[in-house]
Amino acid sequence: MGKGFEYTCKKCHYSEYVNLGVGMSFPRVYEYLIDKAHDGSLGFRWQELSTRCNLTAINAERKFYLCPKCSNWKLDYDKSLYHPIDEEKTAAKLYHPDSIWQWNDFPYVSPRTLNSQYHKLAHYAHICKECGTAMLCIQESELHHLHCKLQFKCPSCGTYNRIGSIGFWD
Ligand SMILES: [Zn+2]
Ligand SMILES: [Zn+2]
Repeated sequence: MGKGFEYTCKKCHYSEYVNLGVGMSFPRVYEYLIDKAHDGSLGFRWQELSTRCNLTAINAERKFYLCPKCSNWKLDYDKSLYHPIDEEKTAAKLYHPDSIWQWNDFPYVSPRTLNSQYHKLAHYAHICKECGTAMLCIQESELHHLHCKLQFKCPSCGTYNRIGSIGFWD
């Protein structure tokens, strides 16, 4: 289950529901991202790091990114790569019959497991498409505090709008 909010532009009525975190489709999202890492769509370095060891995991959590320079924002998967702190222990757990039944086609790793049992191998830098600045990842808890103060640029017409209050989705 994740959290999200509705973004609606007061001027052009562009509307998008912004889903954050991890939802029901997480295993499919995870597989899609790891496939992209393997086939080189995320760059040569990601291909090299993700294929070198089959325990390398990707962060498939959906996050909110904001450009500190031009206020452009986007919703994207974290895409940083992780590696288990204890390879043997993680491999035994991941390929244990008790966990295999939960897979789709590929063993997936939740962001919570990444935080507790993995270390970050490579940080995926999210760059603003508009101005080339490194975007900031705004945590859901921060968004909760900022949503009544900050205004976000409409992807369609550029008008600044406040966002709605944050609710749950699944
Ligand atoms: Zn920018
Ligand atoms: Zn607009």
